[in-house]
Formats: sequence, structure tokens, C-alpha cells
Amino acid sequence: MHWLKDKAIKLKSIVTCSFLVVVCLLTASSFAQTTLLLSNAHVVDPTTQKIELQHILIKQGRIVDRLQSIPSNFQGQIIDVKGQWVIPGLNELHTHSFGNRGPGGAHNFIGTDGTAKLMLSAGVTSLLDLFGNEEQLFEHRKQQQNGKILGADIFTSLSCLTATKGHCTEYGVATRVMDSPKQAIDVVNALAKKSPNVIKIVYDQHGGRPSIDKATLRAAIDTAKKHQIKTIIHISSVDDMRDAIHAGASALTHLPDDQEIPVKLAELMAKHKVVSIPTLSVNTDLVEFIKNPEILATPLAIKVASEQIRASYTLENIKWTQKQLDQLHSRNQHYYRSMKTLIDAGVTILTGSDSGNYGTIQGYSVHREMIKLVQSGMSTWQALAASTTDAGQFLGKSYGVNIGDEANLVVLTASPIEDITNSQKIAMVIHHGKVIE
Ligand SMILES: [Zn+2]
Repeated sequence: MHWLKDKAIKLKSIVTCSFLVVVCLLTASSFAQTTLLLSNAHVVDPTTQKIELQHILIKQGRIVDRLQSIPSNFQGQIIDVKGQWVIPGLNELHTHSFGNRGPGGAHNFIGTDGTAKLMLSAGVTSLLDLFGNEEQLFEHRKQQQNGKILGADIFTSLSCLTATKGHCTEYGVATRVMDSPKQAIDVVNALAKKSPNVIKIVYDQHGGRPSIDKATLRAAIDTAKKHQIKTIIHISSVDDMRDAIHAGASALTHLPDDQEIPVKLAELMAKHKVVSIPTLSVNTDLVEFIKNPEILATPLAIKVASEQIRASYTLENIKWTQKQLDQLHSRNQHYYRSMKTLIDAGVTILTGSDSGNYGTIQGYSVHREMIKLVQSGMSTWQALAASTTDAGQFLGKSYGVNIGDEANLVVLTASPIEDITNSQKIAMVIHHGKVIE
């Protein structure tokens, strides 16, 4: 019965639109150009760490003014967000955007286009894919630039540069290998022709797989610099970190597994302005999801993750004993302590969850990453900056709530500064000046 009713309504609207097709198209295009005023907003600015009650004026995808009062002759759309908070859009700086996978064979492969849409509904307005199917990523990014794919803005490394049989080659997805400085120069030059947004390099001397050596790492980074492309280096040990910092990396991703980060190394990282994308989610949330099922029962988790994925996080599926789970849970502290050292040293930290892997949910894990940054010792202001303004700076974009910034905004029903979990209370997402939902 309901189905019939729904169908009737749909048919009616299709008919109306085809009779008035010209009007419909005109309305759609003029709506995109509409001047939008978000009135009575609590504007949350991570750069000044201030919340101001103002009206945000948006034109052609950018914030053009922040007003104290609404002009009497204002013409455009007004959305009153009284009693709500406006933050810059969130960023996922380490994803594999094919979709989700969970223990026991659970999967939901929705592709980069599907993932980008899902992310946007979770308030994530840009994603950085750090390795997948190179051709597909290239195509999806191109289609999005041509307006054919909606969703979070797609940035990508396209490939993962690694040694022959090194990490990234185990997934059965073609990647690019380099085993000498000469090959590194050739590989980076060849990839640069496809304009990757960053270059992802695996430097993993203790990970159990072959790794490129230090000279090859340096040659790859130097060549990327000639093309003015930033480098993100996958590391897994304190030694890897030190070498990558000295080789001139722009960013390191993951935290060392072998030991906690020494204070001196964190200070070196800060001095060289090397950024951290720690991926706390992938390191710690597999255990957390199984131990605390309520994490996957929040409204946002239910909205973005399928029932099958959420239900897959059980001891049975992962084949651990309760004792192993408890041991791994206490091991999580190792990563939080390393994070605290990075935070105290003043290293710039950005949210990236390594979503696509177990222990992550596309979109949701960005919110988890912010919670974990706060648990590690960041203020809520710092955690918000890590996912918004600082992330924009790394991508070369002006993401924020100030005049000239891209109008990628999330409206929340509660203040994320009071409690970072309020970032999940999403009332509306605005992307390039358009209201998405
Ligand atoms: Zn990854």
C-alpha cells in the first residue's frame, strides 16, 4: 500500500517536471547560484579558537562575508540555524575508498563514487585516497571534476610506490615498484604526468616485507619536490620515521609498532615541519569495536555502515580469545602514548583513519579519529583543526569559516568544543555552497 502511494507521488513529480522541463532546469541551475545566508550561526573557527554568533554569507561556493545583521534588502535563500553550530567540513586524509570490509568476510564494496557520497553525508567534504585501483581512481577524480560524480572531493595518490614484493603489492591491485634511486626518479616522473595530489611511498624496513632503501626514498622525495607534489610516507618503526624525516618527507602515516615515539624524535619531526597522519582508528578500533559494541550503534554509525558490516565485529569472526582481546586492548595505550608525545612536541597532526581496513567505517572513522586525538591529549579545538583547517592547509585548500574560504560546512545541533562526539550530531552538510542534506 505504502509502495503504491510512493510510486504515485514519484510518477506525479516526474510528469510535472517533464511538462515544465525548462522551468525545472532553470530552477536547478539558478538554485546553484543562489546566494545563501546561514543566519544566527554559532560559527566555530578552529584558527582563532573562537565561537561567534553571526550570519554566514555564501556566494558561488565561497564564504563572502560574516555579518552581524541581515541586510534589509537581502535577496537570496536564508537558512536559519539558530541554536546550532557551524564548523568547516571534515577531511579524511588516509582512506582506501573502495568501501567497507569487516571480519568474517563482511563487505560492502561501493566504489570511490559511492564512498565519496557516503563520506559527504557524514560531514566529510574531502577524502584523500592513498592507494587503490589507479585507473579507476584517476577516472573517478576526472569525472568528479567534470561534475559527473557527487560526494566528497576526491584527492588521491593514485598509486603506492614500493619495493618489488613490498607492502601494497599483496592486495592483487597493480601498483608501481622501484628498487633503486634511478628507478625512483623514473617512477615518480611517470606518475607525476597523471597529477597525483600526493605521492605515497612505503618505507618499511621492519615490516617483514622487502622495502626500498634510504637512497631510493630520498630520490623519490627529491623528484616529487621537483614536481611540487607532497609526499606521504608509510612507516612502521621509529627508525623508519627518523630516516623519512631526514629524507625530507612532507608527512608520515601510521605510528611505529616497535616502540613508543621518543621525545627527541617528535621534536625533530616538529622542527622539520613533517606532518603526522597517525591512523589511530586502524590501530586501535578493531579491538574497540568488539569490546564496546555501542560504538557501532550510534545514529551516525547506523546511517553510514551496513547492518552486515556492523554485526561482523565479533570475537568469533576475528577468532580471538577474550584474553587476546584484553591484551590487544591494553596494547592500544602504546599508540595513545606515542600520540601524546607528538602532540606535546607541537607536530601538526591530521585526521586519517586508513578506512577500508578492519576497524574502520568510511566517514564515521573521521569522527572516531577526532575522539582518539582528544583521548591522546589534544584539546577539542586542536582535534577539530586536525580534521578541518590544518587538513586544508596540507591539501593546499582554504578550508575554514572565514571570508574567502570554500563553503564546505557542517551544521551541528551541539557544540563540538564542549564534547568532540558532538561532531556526529549533523543537521546539515553544505558542500561548495550547496545544501546537501
Ligand atoms: Zn592505508
